[in-house]
Amino acid sequence: MAYRRRNGSDTWHWCSNCSNWPTTNYDERPTKPAGGDLCNECKGKDAAGTCKK
Ligand SMILES: [Zn+2]
Repeated sequence: MAYRRRNGSDTWHWCSNCSNWPTTNYDERPTKPAGGDLCNECKGKDAAGTCKK
């Protein structure tokens, strides 16, 4: 799954079922970005095994 960041935001998402998953106006990277913040909700989903990639 790619990493997405909404334009104007510093937070990267990688779970397509995150409530903040950007669907318009976003940057996408194929691999884990070196900079910026990682979404806490995506982290939580990953830890719980419910992250939909
Ligand atoms: Zn997220």
